[in-house]
Amino acid sequence: MDQTPVIVPAEPELRHGKIYGLYNKLTDELFYVGSTFETLSVRMSRHKYNSNVHPNRNIYKHVNEIIGGWQNVECRQLKDIGLCDKRTKLREENDLIIEHAPMCNMKSAVRARNNTITCECGKTYNVKNKYRHDQSVKHVNYEMQLLAI
Ligand SMILES: [Zn+2]
Repeated sequence: MDQTPVIVPAEPELRHGKIYGLYNKLTDELFYVGSTFETLSVRMSRHKYNSNVHPNRNIYKHVNEIIGGWQNVECRQLKDIGLCDKRTKLREENDLIIEHAPMCNMKSAVRARNNTITCECGKTYNVKNKYRHDQSVKHVNYEMQLLAI
C-alpha cells in the first residue's frame, strides 16, 4: 500500500482588505498608500508604534517633518476590496501606488522619474515589479520583522 502523504495546498485565507492613504491634513497631500486587513484605526496605531521603533523609515521621517506630526496625519480609506487574499490585496495596493505615486512609496523624486524604487527592505526594483518585489523573501522577512511587536 502506498503511504505517500498527499499534500493539499492550503486555500488562501480570505479576509476583509482595504487600501488606505495617509494624508497631511495641512496640505491635503497624499504621501503614503498602504493596504491592510485590520481596521484603519488599528493600522494607524501600528504605524505610530512603528514610527518610534523605526524612525528612519521614509514614511516616518516624512511624518516627523509635518508640523504637529501624527496629529496632522489623517488615514482615509481609498478602496474597500472586500473579502480577498493577500495576493489580491497587494495587487490592488500596487495599482493605487502606481496611480498616485505618493512621495513616501517612492524613495525620491529623481528615482521615481525612472520608476526605480529603493525599498525600506534594502532592495531596489522597478515600480512595475512592485507586486513581485512585495512577495520576495527579503521583503516579506522585512515586513515580518516590522510587524513583530
Ligand atoms: Zn522591500
